Amino acid sequence: MRPLKSTLLFLVFFILSSCSSTPLTGKKALLLVPEREENAMGVKAWNDIKRKERVSRDSRITSIVNTVGVNIAKQAARPDFNWEIKTFESSSPNAFCLPGGKIGIYTGILKYAKNEAGLATVMGHEVGHAIARHGGQRMSQQLVTNLGMVAIGVTAFSKMPPRKRNLLMAAIGAGVAVGVMLPYSRSHELEADEIGMILMAKAGYDPREAVKFWERFGRAGGKAPPEFLSTHPRSGKRAERLSAMLPKALEIYNSSRVKYGLGRSL
Ligand SMILES: [Zn+2]
Repeated sequence: MRPLKSTLLFLVFFILSSCSSTPLTGKKALLLVPEREENAMGVKAWNDIKRKERVSRDSRITSIVNTVGVNIAKQAARPDFNWEIKTFESSSPNAFCLPGGKIGIYTGILKYAKNEAGLATVMGHEVGHAIARHGGQRMSQQLVTNLGMVAIGVTAFSKMPPRKRNLLMAAIGAGVAVGVMLPYSRSHELEADEIGMILMAKAGYDPREAVKFWERFGRAGGKAPPEFLSTHPRSGKRAERLSAMLPKALEIYNSSRVKYGLGRSL
């Protein structure tokens, strides 16, 4: 067999064998990088962020953030993740969950969250991106479209020029660490909304607050949208889809053993 042909065959096989199913929604996804490598990049980005950002010393706020984070993480059914939750002091309304379960909440988003259920909406959505491996999917897209298949592999990653490396880090959701913000696609947003609503309902937070949170947050746009909003665009469709998901989420919420309702105010 000629080398080109066998390489192509290998690639086709590689791509076909790289499609996996997303938890809770069952959607198929293209994933070219093993999850453990994604998680290792997540840990690296997490350490960078912790070095750069100021961790909040507000004990009331951090205790609420930690409680909600632990409750959402429990429902994510990933005991293999090394979950960590940190509150960062910053006016930027931002939040993220890196591959492997590193949740960062910026204090600037708390005024939109307003209560524990609003916070559970944000965390559920971000954890949804993480367990559905949207970061890994974006990274796979970057590898195919921008960087070329040769870039696959950890050795290649460490030898990459910083700009390309940053693009991959941004793809896993580490935009705050490398200063490159990559928006998620609309289908990833909808999927994260759906997973997030299920997680918050299972954890005992009133899922009706999810619809209200995105309304509050959508109104915050203005001329220069906040970071989180620019990578998580508002759309008329979103409110519509959230309302459509609500009956299923309410059913889960009504049968959950613990109910916090809206929880404490922030
Ligand atoms: Zn999102």
